[in-house]
Amino acid sequence: MKNANSFAVQGGPLQSLEEWDDFVKARYPEGKTEFPASARNIDKKPEEFRNYTETTPPRVREFYRLNHTYQTRDFVLGKKNQFLAKNRATMGIWEAMEFLNTLVDDSDPDTELTQIEHLLQTSEAIRSDGRPDWFILTGLIHDLGKILCLWGEPQWAVVGDTFPVGCAWSTKIALHEYFALNPDSKIPQYQTRLGVHAEHCGLDRVDLSWGHDEYLFHIVKDHLPEEALYMIRYHSFYPAHQEGEYDYLMDDHDKEMFNWVREFNPYDLYSKAKERPDVRELQPYYQGLIAKYFPAQLNW
Ligand code: FE
Ligand code: FE
Repeated sequence: MKNANSFAVQGGPLQSLEEWDDFVKARYPEGKTEFPASARNIDKKPEEFRNYTETTPPRVREFYRLNHTYQTRDFVLGKKNQFLAKNRATMGIWEAMEFLNTLVDDSDPDTELTQIEHLLQTSEAIRSDGRPDWFILTGLIHDLGKILCLWGEPQWAVVGDTFPVGCAWSTKIALHEYFALNPDSKIPQYQTRLGVHAEHCGLDRVDLSWGHDEYLFHIVKDHLPEEALYMIRYHSFYPAHQEGEYDYLMDDHDKEMFNWVREFNPYDLYSKAKERPDVRELQPYYQGLIAKYFPAQLNW
């Protein structure tokens, strides 16, 4: 049964936010994601990978059309102004997870995982590999920024592959052709390789398209190790961490830290198991982990 309000809540066109994740997963099949991408794709012609126009489902294509049309530099700076004041709510991490879980998709609730279940599957996969506890915690929280949807933000301003604004768009960004509709395409300064940036200025000085990654980074940045913060902030920056693009905006430290972003990516994409995690059983362990790193309340 579809929830009558879900379309309004999520701002379409996707039936669920996972439709975007599924599209990413189809682009980077498991076992073929070793960096660099140039080596990974060696036996395929570039056009086989880049021709998404025919192979992408219409809802996903429409999603990218909106994302690429409206994610201008001005839009991004405006959203940072609006959301980085962090004056919307005061919540603990687990409370934010439960809030995110109220996100109602059009997809079938009997077959699709809830948001909490996706978070727990990611963190449990990391935990079963014996990774450090901050890495496990990062898996648990990495998508909490999707609560932006619950504050009325449209899907194209919450999920999607991220990319720098204020400079030329990499041709390796999926559905690149839709950038022709973006008003920034008419601003010559933004259409050069560096745009408003200096060579190797470091990603902290670069504005990426707005979404759940950047938002959550600002919420948690005082509480987690730097490696974790890179994973959170750049996990949707596929043009860089999977395609090797925008090297010229990174400094040496970014390049080193991106090894962690790539470490994290398979847990996000491929940890969707058949069986659903038992939320109540896992909750005490995770509440202890949350309490080790975070105060009881955070500003959102
Ligand atoms: Fe995500
Ligand atoms: Fe995720």
